[in-house]
Amino acid sequence: MPKKSIRFIARDLNVCYDYVKRNIDEMGIGPDDYSHMGTPTYNEETQKDIQVYMNIGIDWYCDSCGDHMNEQEGFNTHSGSWVCKKCGYINDVTKNNLR
Ligand SMILES: [Zn+2]
Repeated sequence: MPKKSIRFIARDLNVCYDYVKRNIDEMGIGPDDYSHMGTPTYNEETQKDIQVYMNIGIDWYCDSCGDHMNEQEGFNTHSGSWVCKKCGYINDVTKNNLR
Protein backbone atom coordinates (compact mmCIF):
# COMPACT_ATOMS: atom_id res chain seq x y z
CA MET A 1 0.00 0.00 0.00
CA PRO A 2 1.54 3.31 -1.07
CA LYS A 3 2.33 5.83 1.61
CA LYS A 4 2.23 9.53 0.97
CA SER A 5 3.77 12.59 2.51
CA ILE A 6 1.66 15.63 3.36
CA ARG A 7 2.97 17.29 0.22
CA PHE A 8 1.58 14.50 -1.99
CA ILE A 9 -1.72 14.35 -0.09
CA ALA A 10 -2.11 18.11 -0.58
CA ARG A 11 -1.40 17.72 -4.29
CA ASP A 12 -3.96 14.91 -4.61
CA LEU A 13 -6.62 16.94 -2.84
CA ASN A 14 -5.67 20.12 -4.70
CA VAL A 15 -5.23 22.15 -1.53
CA CYS A 16 -2.19 23.78 -0.01
CA TYR A 17 0.33 22.02 2.19
CA ASP A 18 -0.27 24.25 5.22
CA TYR A 19 -4.00 23.53 5.17
CA VAL A 20 -3.43 19.77 5.23
CA LYS A 21 -0.75 20.10 7.89
CA ARG A 22 -3.03 22.20 10.12
CA ASN A 23 -5.87 19.67 9.87
CA ILE A 24 -3.56 16.74 10.60
CA ASP A 25 -2.31 18.60 13.67
CA GLU A 26 -5.90 19.29 14.74
CA MET A 27 -6.79 15.62 14.34
CA GLY A 28 -3.85 14.76 16.53
CA ILE A 29 -2.83 11.83 14.36
CA GLY A 30 0.75 10.78 13.90
CA PRO A 31 2.35 9.51 10.71
CA ASP A 32 2.24 5.80 9.88
CA ASP A 33 5.83 5.75 8.79
CA TYR A 34 8.74 7.87 7.62
CA SER A 35 10.43 8.00 4.25
CA HIS A 36 14.14 7.29 4.01
CA MET A 37 14.60 11.08 4.13
CA GLY A 38 12.72 11.23 7.42
CA THR A 39 9.57 12.77 5.95
CA PRO A 40 6.38 11.68 7.76
CA THR A 41 4.16 9.50 5.54
CA TYR A 42 0.53 8.39 5.78
CA ASN A 43 -1.20 5.27 4.44
CA GLU A 44 -4.45 5.17 2.43
CA GLU A 45 -6.65 4.55 5.47
CA THR A 46 -5.21 7.58 7.20
CA GLN A 47 -5.64 9.64 4.05
CA LYS A 48 -9.34 8.70 4.09
CA ASP A 49 -9.57 9.84 7.71
CA ILE A 50 -7.93 13.10 6.68
CA GLN A 51 -10.34 13.54 3.75
CA VAL A 52 -13.35 12.85 5.96
CA TYR A 53 -12.10 15.30 8.56
CA MET A 54 -11.31 17.99 5.99
CA ASN A 55 -14.49 17.16 4.08
CA ILE A 56 -12.71 17.10 0.73
CA GLY A 57 -13.52 14.91 -2.24
CA ILE A 58 -16.34 13.02 -0.57
CA ASP A 59 -20.02 13.42 -1.42
CA TRP A 60 -22.35 12.69 1.48
CA TYR A 61 -25.97 11.74 0.85
CA CYS A 62 -28.62 11.32 3.54
CA ASP A 63 -29.29 7.62 4.21
CA SER A 64 -32.96 8.37 4.66
CA CYS A 65 -34.02 10.96 2.05
CA GLY A 66 -30.99 10.98 -0.25
CA ASP A 67 -30.39 14.73 0.01
CA HIS A 68 -26.87 15.92 -0.87
CA MET A 69 -25.78 16.92 2.62
CA ASN A 70 -22.59 18.71 1.53
CA GLU A 71 -24.86 21.52 0.31
CA GLN A 72 -26.74 21.83 3.60
CA GLU A 73 -25.89 24.94 5.61
CA GLY A 74 -23.07 24.42 8.09
CA PHE A 75 -22.43 20.83 7.02
CA ASN A 76 -19.37 19.27 8.59
CA THR A 77 -18.09 15.83 9.53
CA HIS A 78 -16.11 16.73 12.64
CA SER A 79 -18.44 15.14 15.18
CA GLY A 80 -18.91 11.98 13.12
CA SER A 81 -22.64 12.49 12.70
CA TRP A 82 -24.87 14.96 10.90
CA VAL A 83 -28.58 15.57 11.31
CA CYS A 84 -30.08 15.94 7.85
CA LYS A 85 -31.59 19.42 7.55
CA LYS A 86 -34.24 18.11 5.20
CA CYS A 87 -35.62 15.08 7.05
CA GLY A 88 -33.95 15.07 10.48
CA TYR A 89 -32.30 11.67 10.07
CA ILE A 90 -29.04 11.28 11.99
CA ASN A 91 -26.39 10.20 9.48
CA ASP A 92 -23.09 8.51 10.21
CA VAL A 93 -20.52 10.71 8.49
CA THR A 94 -17.42 8.74 9.34
CA LYS A 95 -15.11 6.68 7.19
CA ASN A 96 -17.21 3.62 8.15
CA ASN A 97 -20.09 4.89 6.08
CA LEU A 98 -18.14 5.49 2.88
CA ARG A 99 -19.27 3.42 -0.07
ZN1 LIG B 1 -32.47 13.38 4.91
